[in-house]
Amino acid sequence: MTTRRDFLTSTAAAAAALSVLPGGAQGETPVASPALPVAPGAELAPRPVVISSGNGIRGVKVAYDQIVRGTDTLDAIIAGINIQELDPDDQSVGLGGFPNADGVVQLDASCMHGPTKRAGAVGCLEDIATPSLVAKAVMDYTDHIMLVGAGAKRFALDMGFRSQPLLTEKTRQDWLRWKARLNPNDFWLDHDDDVKIKFSTGTINMNAVNAKGEISSCTSTSGMAWKIPGRLGDSPIVGAGQYCDNEVGAAGSTGRGEANIKVCGGFLTVEHMRQGMAPAQAVLKTLERLVAMTESRLLRPDGRPNFDIQFYAVAKDGRYAAGSLYEGADFAVCDEKGPRLETCVFLYPRGR
Ligand code: ASP
Repeated sequence: MTTRRDFLTSTAAAAAALSVLPGGAQGETPVASPALPVAPGAELAPRPVVISSGNGIRGVKVAYDQIVRGTDTLDAIIAGINIQELDPDDQSVGLGGFPNADGVVQLDASCMHGPTKRAGAVGCLEDIATPSLVAKAVMDYTDHIMLVGAGAKRFALDMGFRSQPLLTEKTRQDWLRWKARLNPNDFWLDHDDDVKIKFSTGTINMNAVNAKGEISSCTSTSGMAWKIPGRLGDSPIVGAGQYCDNEVGAAGSTGRGEANIKVCGGFLTVEHMRQGMAPAQAVLKTLERLVAMTESRLLRPDGRPNFDIQFYAVAKDGRYAAGSLYEGADFAVCDEKGPRLETCVFLYPRGR
């Protein structure tokens, strides 16, 4: 008996086969996937390395230690990301993450597993502290890639995830301060000792390669603080917030998601590496493209963007880099030399 899934799979396989036949059903000439140019040193066995946004300094060590003990690269980086997701003091992700304009914490995450070419994502997920694990469950247990909102939560509950309040007391107070200061003419009193909180961003992206050259990537976030309810940033979008191709490398992003979505920065950075660029060159090239795609209302008088954004990249042979629009950002790395923060390459020097 043919099940619906068998039917869908064989139909998809047949369609895929047709599309690569010369002059096939769509009349297209097949295009071979470009080969990865051999980078200096790439003939050596890959060396395990984990990189992440700076807030992942504890997580890269956990992930690296797991990888050298043989844990799968995606499981290992998600274990690293879970540390931030479950830390109530990290207000950019998971428990204690900044809420939306209504005071509701809505979380986004996506992941890719290089060796099996699979991906999973969740968006606007409420009441579950570890969206990275829910994204992986979407990848592992469904034929879909992305679930959002109420459906994503129901799926998580069905999979056994625990529902819990994610708004911590500190984050609730920050939200109230933001709300009170929105409009000087409303009935909320502004207090001079209030910290000025307007827009705040933050996220964790982590990427890893092991000694076999197996690569994975994952990004998790509470998104932009005070966002319009329902807003999705780049983090849950495969190809923007993170991307992984086991033949080439992985890349991900933190910072203004709206800017990244327009250049599909995770994918673009991996494509730059596929063309032969080193990770540092690849992230800078992506940043240049992003600046070129920035609308004028977001440019300062000197023509530079009025926001910041970072890209992180690791190549199959273990080379890595991270880049930021503005000087001063750092990122976390762990390899055989241990966990440490390193400096991002940048487009614009500080103060100029
Ligand atoms: N990229 C995240 C988003 O736009 C936020 C951040 O990384 O700061 O949702």
